Amino acid sequence: MYDVLIIGTGPAGYTSAIYSARYNLETIQIGEMPGGLISEAPEVCNYPGFESISGMELSNKMEDQVKELGVEVVYDEVVSIEGRDDDFTVETRRDEYEAKKIIMATGQERRRLGLEREHEFKGKGVSYCATCDAAFYKDKKVGVVGGGDAALASALLLSDHSEKVYILYRQDEFFRPEPIRVKEIEQRENIEPIFEVNVESLIGEDKLEGVKLDNSQFLELDGLFIEIGSVPNSGLVEDLDIKVTEDGYIRTDEERRTDVPGVYAAGDVIDSPLKQAITAAGQGAEAATTAYEELKKEEVT
Ligand SMILES: Cc1cc2nc3c(=O)[nH]c(=O)nc-3n(C[C@H](O)[C@H](O)[C@H](O)COP(=O)(O)OP(=O)(O)OC[C@H]3O[C@@H](n4cnc5c(N)ncnc54)[C@H](O)[C@@H]3O)c2cc1C
Repeated sequence: MYDVLIIGTGPAGYTSAIYSARYNLETIQIGEMPGGLISEAPEVCNYPGFESISGMELSNKMEDQVKELGVEVVYDEVVSIEGRDDDFTVETRRDEYEAKKIIMATGQERRRLGLEREHEFKGKGVSYCATCDAAFYKDKKVGVVGGGDAALASALLLSDHSEKVYILYRQDEFFRPEPIRVKEIEQRENIEPIFEVNVESLIGEDKLEGVKLDNSQFLELDGLFIEIGSVPNSGLVEDLDIKVTEDGYIRTDEERRTDVPGVYAAGDVIDSPLKQAITAAGQGAEAATTAYEELKKEEVT
């Protein structure tokens, strides 16, 4: 029986693990793979202590620190959580664990378009991360689906590498863009926004070769970057009846308690406005501290 079981190996999970270990709690951390979303960032310049560091290096450092403190780190996918009040059973693909307290630090993932063949072409022309994949599209033709700020930032990044960048957006103007970004987009000769269109189908043999739009236009493309927002990885808490927002983000109080005793949450998976590594880390520290204080109180009573 662990004192604390942390689900997620991103900044929120690693920080919870560091705090939990330093509170001398029997701690286990389970994540699908080392590092969370931050490992996709080529350069992080807003995490204190590092003027500039790659996201991968930052998460490797976090993981090293966690392991150095003696935390058991397991790479596996959690498929269910059952229980209540200091008696939880967590099932993974390969094993089963018991813990008194659970910290959900499962982050969020990119929203899919939901098109046939989208999964088949992932990594073969379809991408969800321009920062990760832009360099593969040097002198190629690419499309960016979406019209929010993240889509515009991706289009600008891609235009540094690619011959031509189309922005494909279903509305007739961009969605709350930063004015400076719109100006930059207008100045780039190789970016062409196409408004009021949806991608209807993905075309290609073994890899993406183009897209058909719902205005009947066919665009020849080597890559399609999907930038239509994110969804929280909060499905695991459905069975526990934990309150989530309409979009599925877990609601917590300021000390990161959910409304189910013994379950805390931190990072991008919770309902908080700033989704960054530093806020995720801070919330992870708060979650572990609350878990520790509650365990201590329970020992006394
Ligand atoms: C390209 C890019 C650049 C970014 N740049 C910056 C930046 O410069 N500065 C900054 O502060 N932030 C940046 N961010 C945001 C930052 O990455 C996130 O805010 C941060 O990673 C959130 O941390 P987290 O621990 O909450 O979630 P995540 O980092 O997403 O980690 C969640 C982890 O939980 C795992 N998980 C989910 N479900 C399960 C399950 N069922 N079982 C086991 N494991 C599970 C996931 O695999 C993942 O490893 C960037 C994000 C991206 C995508």
